[in-house]
Amino acid sequence: MVVRMRANRSKTGMRRSHAAISGARLSKCECGANKIPHRACQACGKYNGKVVIDIVARTKREQRRTKRHEKELKESGKETKEKVPEKT
Ligand SMILES: [Zn+2]
Repeated sequence: MVVRMRANRSKTGMRRSHAAISGARLSKCECGANKIPHRACQACGKYNGKVVIDIVARTKREQRRTKRHEKELKESGKETKEKVPEKT
């Protein structure tokens, strides 16, 4: 940019006075929970009155996942415990 065109701090500040981000706009779902507009509800999985996300199946899947993760953690913990005495 040519130096002649360079905006001073005042001009930059005036331009940026409108650039602030306001808080997220939330709408109410029919189940009563707050939800992001144009997105399915995270609480009941409904969009526009229809069930779009199978919440029950999702929670089951997540439970299975957490169980598996815990198992893996335990197994890895055993391995580290076994390895530590070998080193010392
Ligand atoms: Zn809902």
